[in-house]
Amino acid sequence: MQSQESNQIVVRFAPSPSGRMHAGNIASALITWLFARLSNGKVILRIEDLDRSRSKQEHIDNILLDFEKLGLTWDEGPYFQSSNQEAYSEALEVLRESAHIYPCFCTRADLAAARAPHEGEYAIYPGTCRHLSEEQISTASARRNPSYRIEVPSETIFFDDILQGSQGFTLDAQCGDAILRRSDGGFSYQLAVSVDDALQGISLVSRGYDLLASTPLQMYLLKLLGYEAPNYAHIPLLVSQEGIRLSKRNKDASIDQMLVSYHSFDGIIGHIAYLYGLSDADRPISPDGLSKLHNIETLINSLWKQDKIIWRP
Ligand code: GLU
Repeated sequence: MQSQESNQIVVRFAPSPSGRMHAGNIASALITWLFARLSNGKVILRIEDLDRSRSKQEHIDNILLDFEKLGLTWDEGPYFQSSNQEAYSEALEVLRESAHIYPCFCTRADLAAARAPHEGEYAIYPGTCRHLSEEQISTASARRNPSYRIEVPSETIFFDDILQGSQGFTLDAQCGDAILRRSDGGFSYQLAVSVDDALQGISLVSRGYDLLASTPLQMYLLKLLGYEAPNYAHIPLLVSQEGIRLSKRNKDASIDQMLVSYHSFDGIIGHIAYLYGLSDADRPISPDGLSKLHNIETLINSLWKQDKIIWRP
């Protein structure tokens, strides 16, 4: 099963439409876009709307509009995870053939654990439901619907991250048994993103550093599904002075406030590029203009082995 048709680099923007974009999302998208632009590659836009309760049409509309205004163009999509349920369901059946997929009745943080685990949110499942008897399963099933997890082996997955260098993670000790399907029937981030990256022919997964620890798990799922793993580039994360990933709480990093502070969309791009060391002055510049200052080597060198960048308004 190979979905890649050519050697062209294919990256993706994969926003979760749970709110308006902020400096952190924009930084990731900008660097992802530069990877594509500097290698004559292609950008696919994928809306990660698996979590129906948090995904809103209004947020989707704003994300598309903000990307356009920022000059962060895409070549294909938007594709929606909510429209790809059949592919996730088929993948789950394929995984059942080669791995131990088991019902899990643990309630704690079930839904949260099935979302994209950003840094500090990664909990290793202790294996409570891994070997339940048929009888235990039927008793527990009467009380609640299970989620489904995959048992991961004690195997170390190695990869060379384009920005973070060589990595090795042992699946059972550092990733744990991942949820593939939630107890409400929805598919998990880990399953969906692996299937989408394969089917959409993504050759470079460029995303925030906080998802580095998800990579070995996704590579393992891809291997079981018969796909080749893409390359990975984990971008230094924009964090507050306290070292916490930026979020909606950091008002001065919201797109509306940044438009006031930096006067234009190019002003926002210029400020972020400056913080990341991609531009030597804090002045307005478009993504296109920024691409003319770099090649792939200078882009990689500017970001090499950095896990975080401190946000300064
Ligand atoms: N949808 C995730 C987010 O917005 C990104 C997932 C990924 O890049 O793998 O945080």
